[in-house]
Parts: sequence; C-alpha cells; structure tokens
Amino acid sequence: MTGSRGPSGALGDATEHADLSKPGAAQALSDAGGGAPTQGLDRDPARVLGDADLVQPAPARASGQGTGSAQVSTAATVGSTCADPSKSDRRAALREASTVLVSACLLGEACRYDGRSQRSERVLAALEGKAVVPVCPEVGSGLPIPRPPVDLCGGSGVDVWAGQARALEREARVDRTEDFKRGATLALEAARNFGASVALLKEKSPSCGSQRVYESGVLRPGEGITTALLRSEDITVISDEEL
Ligand code: SF4
Repeated sequence: MTGSRGPSGALGDATEHADLSKPGAAQALSDAGGGAPTQGLDRDPARVLGDADLVQPAPARASGQGTGSAQVSTAATVGSTCADPSKSDRRAALREASTVLVSACLLGEACRYDGRSQRSERVLAALEGKAVVPVCPEVGSGLPIPRPPVDLCGGSGVDVWAGQARALEREARVDRTEDFKRGATLALEAARNFGASVALLKEKSPSCGSQRVYESGVLRPGEGITTALLRSEDITVISDEEL
C-alpha cells in the first residue's frame, strides 16, 4: 500500500468535515469507510489498481435528499478563478500525482443515473500504483440510483456557481442545482482531506465533465459543476477521454 493511511482511516478523516446529519450522504460516505473495499466493484480494486491505497467511494443507494447543510462557501469565487492547464500539463500532472480523486463510475461503481457503471480499463491502468479517492458527487449529495438524467441549462458549471445557469432534470425539469453543488462540495472536501491535487473525472457529465457537457440536451464545450469547483481550488481535472 502506498502512503501511510489505510482506507478506513482516510475515509474517517473525510467524514469529519462533512455534515452527515441527513440519511443520504451519511450512508453514502459511512458505507465507504467501514465496508469492504470491494463493494460494488467487479473485482477487488486493490488488485485492479496494483499497489494502490484505495479509499472507497460513496456507492450507497441513497434515497434521501443529502446533507442539506454542506457548506458551499467557495461558490462566489468559482467563476473568477477557474483555470484549465493545457492537455499535456494535465497528463503530466496525472502521471506525477501520488493521490488522485476519481469518478467512481470509471472504477466500475454502478452509480450512474441509469444504474450502470462506466468502468474504464484505461483509467485503471493510468491509476496503477496511485492512491485513489473515488467520489460520485451526485450520489454523495443524496440523489438515488437510478435517477432522472440532468442537463445544465443556461451555461456550464462555472455559470452555475455564478448563479447564471441551473441543473434541471431533462424530462420533469426538477431543479437539482443545489443537490449538484452540495455533491461538488463534498468531492472538494474529499480532495482536500486526502491531499489530491489531481482529479480524473468522467467526461460529458453535468457534474464531472471537464471539456464537454450537455447543455439543454446539446453537447457543448464546458465543464460540470464539480469540475468547476475543483478547478477554482487549483485542482487539475483531466478527463477519461484524454488518457
Ligand atoms: Fe457519479 Fe460523476 Fe460518474 Fe456521474 S460521472 S455517475 S456524478 S462519478
């Protein structure tokens, strides 16, 4: 195992910094900390990732509405500080990183809106030997699996934090903006707690996308809500499609 922290200890550190008073997020994070590291994955992730120190994600089938009171203190500054290094710099940062925040669906977690995973062998290979911090911002916020698909409307992730765009369910138009912001904040807390300065996230997602996201049903250049927040905190975000 790399590093000095085991999975349970590391996850315990994370939960200290989040308000887990509501069932959804509490279950999502605590299951990760106390459960076996193989939950929800096809194979033992420690073996899949080689000598990696794996922190289990938020895989619980949450049914609540999340923490409700997670702090979103950086919202006002996201739009003005969002940075995006070049692709070569992003790839170099990933190569050099010892700890990486990762979209849980890319590791095989069935946490997508449609109840499926997006397991990527290329992602797993890129993470070989690294400490991995899996997160699913949407499930972490308390949203269930499966859940209605959500599109950004009025702009991309930066615009959401600036109050100029929203995250709406594609069909029913239910506003999920605050859920998505809360999940982004929990992902940022996880990155901070484990010292991850690089995130490898799933492209096209309204949370995790970093180059392209769906806006009002159309794939456009832009970033998701979690990516915008991470970048505002100088965390390098690289897409699974850039490997
Ligand atoms: Fe969760 Fe992000 Fe994967 Fe969507 S893309 S299922 S929010 S980890």
